[in-house]
Amino acid sequence: MAMWVQGVGRSGYRLLRRQMQPKQSKTAGMQRCGYRICLLRVLRLADLPTFAANRESNHSNQTINPQTDMRKKIVAGNWKMNLNLQEGLTLANELKAALAADAPACDVVICTPFIHLAKVADAVAGTVIGVGAENCADKEKGAYTGEVSAAQVKSTGADYVILGHSERRQYYGETAELLKEKVRLALANGLKVIFCIGEVLEEREAGRQNEVVGSQLADSLFDFTADELQNIILAYEPVWAIGTGKTATSEQAEDMHAFIRGCIAGRFGEQAAENISILYGGSCKPSNARELFAKPDVDGGLIGGASLKCADFKGIIDAWK
Ligand code: PEP
Repeated sequence: MAMWVQGVGRSGYRLLRRQMQPKQSKTAGMQRCGYRICLLRVLRLADLPTFAANRESNHSNQTINPQTDMRKKIVAGNWKMNLNLQEGLTLANELKAALAADAPACDVVICTPFIHLAKVADAVAGTVIGVGAENCADKEKGAYTGEVSAAQVKSTGADYVILGHSERRQYYGETAELLKEKVRLALANGLKVIFCIGEVLEEREAGRQNEVVGSQLADSLFDFTADELQNIILAYEPVWAIGTGKTATSEQAEDMHAFIRGCIAGRFGEQAAENISILYGGSCKPSNARELFAKPDVDGGLIGGASLKCADFKGIIDAWK
């Protein structure tokens, strides 16, 4: 298993673009099969470094690349279970003022606890700031005490929802199947999904990160269509970097993002892979955001702790300038 994921990195994505046709199969089994085949093809051809080298140098020279420049650059905050309603509104209004004075060069989203959504959405309506929830139910409606449906989230004025966050997987036992259903309901109700994937420390230490992340993608997302994928944003969040102060190096992030894009190309086709935004999350801060965002496959960040202070979040947003 570890063998066939080695070498699937930034050159892998280029190789996939040249080698793979979109997989048309609809069943999960066939899709998994196509996914594995695509990785095997990458392995065989993974020693074509010139593709990656050209890509890197294009980006660092700020050459306009019509393909990578077409996908959205996004900085999204994840407030988690922090801030009461008044504190949340204060922060939203501070950010609104900061971005009105100095317009961002990327899309900006704040994902808040459910109780903040309607008021925060009102406060930032008509501005560049989008609003999202941090979760939604896997049921449409009914007797599910304490749950909040995708339709209810949408009715607050929110347009996004984070799904698959490692804290939901780890502390609330959210499985790939359950997440697939949440994604289905979120999309059906007009929400854009920020779908989180990422390996834990032991998996990285065992060299299994690509296998783990590839399976998370395949098991929750590969049954959707390329059209549906247009409303999905991916967030690669190595669990060992979340809230720990330990950031993945920009090379580690780029390798994984390129691998993820390769998986998307193998299943949904080259165009879908070029279009999808892949955010990095895990102790991202103003001091490291610029280096991370400079990588060709890193399209922005999902920000936890640093989204709770306007100056820090704005500092990360400014990394796109
Ligand atoms: C997160 O939980 O999504 C996250 C990225 O957290 P932090 O930035 O605090 O590591």
